[in-house]
Amino acid sequence: MSKQTIDSSEASSSFPAIPHWHSPERSAMTITEAEGARVYDESGNEYLDFCSQLICTNLGHDNQAVIEAMNEQLHRVPYVASAQQNDTRDELANRLLDIAPDSLTDVFFSISGSDANEAAAHIARSVSDSHKILTRYRSYHGSTYGAGTLTTDPVTKNALSQYADTTGRAHFLPPISYRSPFNADSEAELAEQAADHVEYVIKNEGPDSIAGILTEPIGGSSGAFTAPEGYFERLREICDRYDILLIVDEVMTGFGRCGDWFGIQTEGVEPDILTFAKGVTGSYAPLAGVMVNDDIATEIDDDGIDIGQTWGGHPVSCAAGVAAVEEYDRHYLDRVQELSPYLERRLRELETDHDVVGDVRGRGLHWAVEFTDPETGEPFFDNRYEEGDDPVKGVLRTAAAEHNVMFGPGKPSFQLMVAPPFCIDESDIDEA
Ligand code: PLP
Repeated sequence: MSKQTIDSSEASSSFPAIPHWHSPERSAMTITEAEGARVYDESGNEYLDFCSQLICTNLGHDNQAVIEAMNEQLHRVPYVASAQQNDTRDELANRLLDIAPDSLTDVFFSISGSDANEAAAHIARSVSDSHKILTRYRSYHGSTYGAGTLTTDPVTKNALSQYADTTGRAHFLPPISYRSPFNADSEAELAEQAADHVEYVIKNEGPDSIAGILTEPIGGSSGAFTAPEGYFERLREICDRYDILLIVDEVMTGFGRCGDWFGIQTEGVEPDILTFAKGVTGSYAPLAGVMVNDDIATEIDDDGIDIGQTWGGHPVSCAAGVAAVEEYDRHYLDRVQELSPYLERRLRELETDHDVVGDVRGRGLHWAVEFTDPETGEPFFDNRYEEGDDPVKGVLRTAAAEHNVMFGPGKPSFQLMVAPPFCIDESDIDEA
């Protein structure tokens, strides 16, 4: 197990400005067409999309079942107020509860992963009468004000730190084995040490001040790291002991991305709250939400807090969701399981063949390649290279411009995200 620790200076690494304003003059590439796992720019160049855009187009770009379901809904009833009952919304809620961990009994629909996490924090604070949410370093929970303050990825955190209220949160170290902040000789020891550390943070922050622990079951854009076996069981025990809610952010890891319907199911642990977005519609339409256990649902009804939004649970998005869940069930959950070992094998070849690859990790079709020195664990990024000349950015640019394959940038920036749509095959993996 690697002993290099995370250097806090790395945690403030810079990342290229993300383009927010949309105009042709500002874009390096304008995507105008898409089919399956491929997208096309305005000059007709074809790209193999190996990061599912923002790790969200899980079904690829031409799923007819989803398109037809949306079309049917549009013609029947395109919009019903979020606070009203609607048959398609109810149907999706039932489907989601069928596939979710057994502890979850009720669904609230919102629009984006960020607002789902804000709603989850709001719900947890409201039912516990406590204000702090604990999140881990190397996490991403969204870019809006509330979700952004719970996020520790350096870019989001730095941007919000100028004006964010910092009292409602505290953070803990992630249970990572490569460049680990812990000193463990085995996965079992790592699980123990990392969970003991969470308990230490809880005791020092004051258990009564903590509403919930919010965590991704598998690291998302912060590097696809999986938790050591037993870690989430310990987190569950600790939450129960201190009466703290366990909230899992499945915005990126849900809907088969990591092999099971939800990442937490692989850990065999029942959360109190689960948030989802991205894959729920395969990104054919915006939709997100929060699932909660029965006690929480009842208490929220009694308290009468208002967390709804005009477009929350939009019927056309819910129609896409119903069709997407059917598609995952029928074709794609098995496909992720089938393709995962092959993708892992090909990625691990990078570790063996290239001395700039320090670590490869992930699960299902959700992987990260870390560009760190395998000997020293030092990242190959802007402490060695001029700003703007980061080799990972170079790899991303070169992959797209010269090899017509798109990967995703990780945070910190010395990682590359490999997360293709589920409609690929082995030849696409070879090509990528
Ligand atoms: N949570 C996780 C784990 C994510 O990966 C993301 C987005 O990438 C979010 C929350 C925020 O979701 P959205 O971009 O839909 O607001």
